[in-house]
Amino acid sequence: MLLYFQLNLSCLYIQGKKKSFRMSISKSHGEGKDNPLMQYVLNHSLREHPVLKNLRLRTMQDSWNIMMVACEQAQFMANLAKLIQAKKALEIGVYTGYNTLNMALALPEDGVVVGCDISEEYTNIGKPFWKEAGVEHKIDLRIQPALTTLDDLLSSGQANTFDFVFIDADKVNYDNYYEKSLLLLRKGGIIAIDNVLWGGRVLNPSPNDADTVAIDKLNKKLHRDIRVTLSMLMVGDGLTLAMKL
Ligand code: SAM
Ligand code: CA
Repeated sequence: MLLYFQLNLSCLYIQGKKKSFRMSISKSHGEGKDNPLMQYVLNHSLREHPVLKNLRLRTMQDSWNIMMVACEQAQFMANLAKLIQAKKALEIGVYTGYNTLNMALALPEDGVVVGCDISEEYTNIGKPFWKEAGVEHKIDLRIQPALTTLDDLLSSGQANTFDFVFIDADKVNYDNYYEKSLLLLRKGGIIAIDNVLWGGRVLNPSPNDADTVAIDKLNKKLHRDIRVTLSMLMVGDGLTLAMKL
């Protein structure tokens, strides 16, 4: 619950005091009404599967829709997964499953997305859309704390077998998710970490703001981490890409 409250605060923060960040750190949700350049980008590049679009529109009816990944970012990650010929993906933080469906559509017929979330309520929204798109057999949803799922995957001998990981759950655990994902990832696999700019708050983290402190600490650690190659992109709310060496 605390996470949701803080995310909501971040939404207010982005839309309020730090409006300039909202302009530069753009997240569309497929509309881009207030940003003509974003609208142009979407008009000239978005190729959203019709069921994915319907799930996005359904998610927009949920009060926590700010948590959903932006459609252009999801499409970019699907392209990355295809580029590295990914077969096994991990979604840490599913919500209504927009990106889970996006990845399942990008993977080959024998591919799998392991989805980690603690909420039946949110993930149940996505399930009928996964079925309608004909990819539910590729989605292995595990409702329990993501750290438990990552430990289960490691203890069942799946280290070094995943191709793509998207870290997008509770921010205080980001470093734990990163370390366990790195063990699960094969060489040349990619970890994508969302919200690494956190509405701009990483510029001046308050010691009382555990989420910002955790994100900033991981950003600093990644800069020095010789186990991976690194890019930090000003896409959405900031997206770090780390490829395992
Ligand atoms: N990646 C999603 C998408 O494509 O739209 C958005 C994920 S949303 C930002 C974060 C999700 O993380 C929520 O659905 C929440 O229930 C989940 N979550 C929070 N704490 C968690 C935990 N400890 N383990 C697993 N999931 C958690
Ligand atoms: Ca996110």
